[in-house]
Amino acid sequence: MKRERIYLCLAHMSGREQDFIKEAFDTNWVVPMGPNVNGFEKDLEEFVNRVENGECRMQNSSSCTPNSQLTKRVVGLSAGTAAVHLALLACGVGPGDEVLVQTFTFCASSHPITYCGATPVFIDSEKDSWNMDPDLLEEAIKDRLAKTGRKPKAIIPVALYGMPYQAGRIMEIADRYGIPVIEDAAEGLGSRFDGQVLGTFGRYGVLSFNGNKMITTSGGGALICPDEASAKEVLYFATQAREAYPYYQHSDIGYNYRMSNICAGIGRGQMTVLDEHIAHHRHVQALYRELLKDVEGVALHENPSPRYDSNFWLCTATLDPGLHVRGQEKAYAETLRGAVGGAAGVVHAAAAPTTDCQPNANVEALRMALDADNIEARPLWKPMHRQPVYSDAPAYVNGVSESLFAVGICLPAGPYVTDDDVRYIVDTIKDAIG
Ligand SMILES: *Cc1c(COP(=O)(O)O)cnc(C)c1O
Repeated sequence: MKRERIYLCLAHMSGREQDFIKEAFDTNWVVPMGPNVNGFEKDLEEFVNRVENGECRMQNSSSCTPNSQLTKRVVGLSAGTAAVHLALLACGVGPGDEVLVQTFTFCASSHPITYCGATPVFIDSEKDSWNMDPDLLEEAIKDRLAKTGRKPKAIIPVALYGMPYQAGRIMEIADRYGIPVIEDAAEGLGSRFDGQVLGTFGRYGVLSFNGNKMITTSGGGALICPDEASAKEVLYFATQAREAYPYYQHSDIGYNYRMSNICAGIGRGQMTVLDEHIAHHRHVQALYRELLKDVEGVALHENPSPRYDSNFWLCTATLDPGLHVRGQEKAYAETLRGAVGGAAGVVHAAAAPTTDCQPNANVEALRMALDADNIEARPLWKPMHRQPVYSDAPAYVNGVSESLFAVGICLPAGPYVTDDDVRYIVDTIKDAIG
């Protein structure tokens, strides 16, 4: 029997989305503001402000209330990328500035730095969490101070695949040098460190609701802000920086980044299944754990300690370089013409079958073996300091992200992935290495 294709993470509707969208049409709120945007922001605020176990910490903001309820505000935007951009502007990032950003990430963490005319300075990862190495972060701050005489304007750690970074240590270092933190929690909605939701530690927190994220609004994002005043300022820049005159009056350059009321309707429906989605991703991770535990040469990436509580947006694994995968001799034989996984907008054909920094042949062979059995898998994200577009950017590296990129693979984890699918995926892996 031919199986349906198993995707990395497919959007899954609750059924409530269309009620909220219908209401938007019925009340003629088909614009980038309105009741769904307000409602979605309220739902998100309730979600991110919930602290699970007592204490919490935040940067440059009033401390938490005694019952451990944070007081963050959330602004709905057109994309997570827009949220990164507006957070940088709110931190005063401009031409000639430097911003420290995790190199092991998707390009949307760093591209907005260049939109501001600033320079990204890439920071490598630590082995345990795969995210920003706090020691390297501090070394970079000291070295930039010595070399440029100026402090970097912001720090962007990233919850890659949902895994938390060492939020405690990163905040401690950032506070010591007085540098604001913008947490890129686009992949980490609902992940926690010490019981506190990612995106609420730093001055700003970025969320994404793109089609393949933990929840979706088709496309969309949000910025978690420290207080009402900063949320208002972000809203101002997200709506073309308009002033309170009867005519259009502008003292600043603004952006058209506000979330649409239709998209927010999808988001309100999605909020009713967010906890369920997260629980499902964790369940899928637990099943991979059980089924892969005796498979030699394949290691599942796990929470490094009980302080970390990943949403396991994607389940990831590394392959021992010595592990033989069927067909690896023929990996990279052909130049790809389209996107792996059919992502939209990949219209530039690859110039050559290989680059000077790519996953090992056994990883590509496993990806192809899974693909042949109708399972979507994908290499880990290629570190930004190895991307041609960033060849001139300063980087503080220890080899961790580059070696993970060589050996790692992302496995399907979304709401549509059943227990039976996980067994089928693991059987396919065993078959390919057998
Ligand atoms: C998806 C993503 C973003 C950007 O979100 P969009 O909504 O797609 O613009 C930012 N950072 C990371 C790490 C992401 O994975």
